[in-house]
Amino acid sequence: MRSKATQGQLCASVANVTSERVREALSGFVRERDWGQFHTPANLAKSISIEAAELLECFQWSDDGDEARVREELADVVTYCTLLAERLGLDLDDIVLEKLAVTSAKYPAERSKGRSAKYDAL
Ligand SMILES: [Mg+2]
Repeated sequence: MRSKATQGQLCASVANVTSERVREALSGFVRERDWGQFHTPANLAKSISIEAAELLECFQWSDDGDEARVREELADVVTYCTLLAERLGLDLDDIVLEKLAVTSAKYPAERSKGRSAKYDAL
């Protein structure tokens, strides 16, 4: 893929993904088809993994995945993540920020900057 998002663009994109507009669109899509009956937490978690594998497949033989396919598979992953969060009554922004705080404590910037080592090897 050619384009690289800056950190600011990435943050704006994540905020938009979890927007009320997206959640309402997904909710309406599911309701119109009566698919909520199939959206158990286990089924949605499996779907996240399946779609993540499809995303990974885009890069199976090249580090430059086809951008159109990557967009579709990434959207599928985020869709199922959003549906699972809704199903479990979780706010994606809250849980991502909570986990980021945990990860930040495990990887202090002064010890982990520019390093890919696991937290216990810093
Ligand atoms: Mg897919």
